[in-house]
Amino acid sequence: MSDYNVIVIGGGPAGYVAAIRCAQLGMKTVCIDKWINPEGKSSLGGTCLNVGCIPSKALLDSSHHYTFMQKHAAEHGIQCDNLSIDIAAMQARKADVVKALTQGIGVLFKKNKVTSITGTARLIGNKQVQVTNQDGSQQSLTGDNIIIATGSVAAQIPVAATDNQFIVDSTGALAFDSVPKRLGIIGAGAIGLELGSVWNRLGSQVTILEALPDFLSVVDRKIATLAQRELKKQGLNIQLSASVTAASVNNNEVSVTYKDKTGEQQIVVDKLIVAVGRKPNTTDLGAAEIGIQINQRGFIEVDEHCQTAIPGIYAIGDVIGGAMLAHKGSEEGIMVAERIAGQKSEMSYDTIPWVIYTWPEIAWVGKTEAQLKAEGIKYKVGQFPFAASGRARAHGDTNGMVRMIADAETDRLLGVHIFGISASELIAEAVVAMEFESSSEDLARTIHAHPTLSEAVHEAALGVDGRMIHA
Ligand code: FAD
Ligand code: NAD
Repeated sequence: MSDYNVIVIGGGPAGYVAAIRCAQLGMKTVCIDKWINPEGKSSLGGTCLNVGCIPSKALLDSSHHYTFMQKHAAEHGIQCDNLSIDIAAMQARKADVVKALTQGIGVLFKKNKVTSITGTARLIGNKQVQVTNQDGSQQSLTGDNIIIATGSVAAQIPVAATDNQFIVDSTGALAFDSVPKRLGIIGAGAIGLELGSVWNRLGSQVTILEALPDFLSVVDRKIATLAQRELKKQGLNIQLSASVTAASVNNNEVSVTYKDKTGEQQIVVDKLIVAVGRKPNTTDLGAAEIGIQINQRGFIEVDEHCQTAIPGIYAIGDVIGGAMLAHKGSEEGIMVAERIAGQKSEMSYDTIPWVIYTWPEIAWVGKTEAQLKAEGIKYKVGQFPFAASGRARAHGDTNGMVRMIADAETDRLLGVHIFGISASELIAEAVVAMEFESSSEDLARTIHAHPTLSEAVHEAALGVDGRMIHA
């Protein structure tokens, strides 16, 4: 008999959620995670809670409050004289938020009777895992099923190797102890834009170098154009078609050379963030050695139910690629746990919401016009500007719009794209509607409270049929 019904390797949002769901379903479950925080203590939650989603949003919120007080409070009649920032206090608050949430997972594990082990796991056979504990001792565990959820790490580029002092990855950029006067960022993706926004709001002159010619190439073109214009206004200098060829540190400064359409360019910055994507984390996992297929980009290969080539061994989250998002990994964890328990759960990959937490936020679900054109699908679009929303105006944030795309013949919702205040929350309505295979008419006939930002979603739905009331 095995030691456990399920061994979960990795305690990030994919692994810890899978472990809890397995235990809820009555399976004897262990979760092995190796994360050690700067205080030398184990810290569950993986990248997301320790150095990803949560600390970045804590700093985004703090820096947003600062910008509000600096630039917008006076419009509301609120005077904020002698405004100053205490970066140490801001970072201490961020650390408290992280601590509360990472410790919370330990509490959830206890409540659900998940055994938690701090250590590094290695697959040493079919259904057998060796764990190297923090003190170097080893133990071997057997499980009827294994779920690999080892996540990802920041991708590196040889032309700008990180030194954790001047050239840093996202983890370093979340921990700056002062505001860099000049900040360079390689990559205008989610991390580049979010961390660029944080430090720009706090006073850095930010230059972002993006290799691709289009800004946010996967995002709806109208939304991307609006966002690019707004971020430029906020002070982000975003250079497109910019390929970095070298970065070197001299006299406490980083010289970055890049090529763009007009030739070779150079910028000198105090810190450089490398934010060019993330790569799967399978180092020393022993996966390939036991016969698990790993593709050319390093991701573990799985079927549509996240099972690897070995029956009973599954992989979920960033380590299998696709959308490298916390909520995608968590849902895969739930699906796998339920399938191990004999249920027929499925993942809805077509309705995964995406959010980029700039101000205002960018959020979308489903297909863009460009994708639909490429697929030859006929569609109609409704679009409503936040400038015509009473609630957005009362709030003082009228930037952006909601764009809703529906099938031209059936009216079924195909995509919703938002740039605007609270887009991260508003997108949930679109996700539910698409999950239920709603038409735009369904949303148009749904009563939305007044005055709310959600009325902008309602109006965009009316707009699909050319019958908006307020625009
Ligand atoms: P991870 O969170 O990477 O967790 C993997 C865990 O496995 C880690 O604890 C690791 O130490 C452990 N591990 C690895 N190998 C072993 C081993 N051999 N033995 C034991 N343990 C092991 N996503 C969003 O959806 N929204 C956001 O707002 C967002 N913001 C982000 C901001 C930043 C700055 C970054 C870097 C990422 C952000 N992401 C965001 C992405 C998100 O963090 C990841 O998609 C998510 O953490 C992936 O979850 P995971 O469980 O697959 O892997
Ligand atoms: P990303 O893939 O979102 O963006 C990387 C950007 O860097 C791309 O635009 C790419 O074209 C560019 N790039 C790549 N190589 C380059 C080079 N040599 N020179 C210049 N530009 C280059 O990756 P990221 O921003 O590093 O984020 C990593 C992962 O974390 C992503 O998968 C993302 O989904 C996730 N994440 C999500 C959120 C969120 O959901 N809000 C926030 C942060 C991170």
